[in-house]
Amino acid sequence: MCFREMKKHDERASDMGQAIKLTGGCLCGAVKFTATPENRRVGACHCDMCRRWTAGPFLSIGCANTIKIENDAAVAIYKSSEWAERHFCSKCGSTLWYKFVGPQEHFVSAEAFDDTAGFEFSHQNFMDEKPEYYNFSNETKNMTGAEVIAAYAPPSAGGDNV
Ligand SMILES: [Zn+2]
Ligand SMILES: [Zn+2]
Repeated sequence: MCFREMKKHDERASDMGQAIKLTGGCLCGAVKFTATPENRRVGACHCDMCRRWTAGPFLSIGCANTIKIENDAAVAIYKSSEWAERHFCSKCGSTLWYKFVGPQEHFVSAEAFDDTAGFEFSHQNFMDEKPEYYNFSNETKNMTGAEVIAAYAPPSAGGDNV
């Protein structure tokens, strides 16, 4: 099954009601959106860029390409690397989602959703960039930055900018 076929398969699964559409938005209310998470597993990214962007570890949930934005005029985009963008509210600065440009994969801020019931904290990335001053006590699958890049980055991606 190629990547595109897998996406079609996912869309069919959501049509069948296996995935649930959730609502979300930014702090000021200028951006409202719906997205359908692939599952309820939340991941944290501790990399330098995510921490500076979100004022903490970036907690997100994979939503493939299911985001529908009500007012995309308020969404600002920062292209942080050759292969990814970071979208945020231009009025209040709220983090919205991290987007892989190629496969159109979106990792939506878990805290941008109106209701996080059922979310499960399952994995942590870039553990080698996590500052010493905090630790989560949840039992999670943890990967270093090199392990994350080896597992997910497109072959053309160079450097360690994510
Ligand atoms: Zn806002
Ligand atoms: Zn990161």
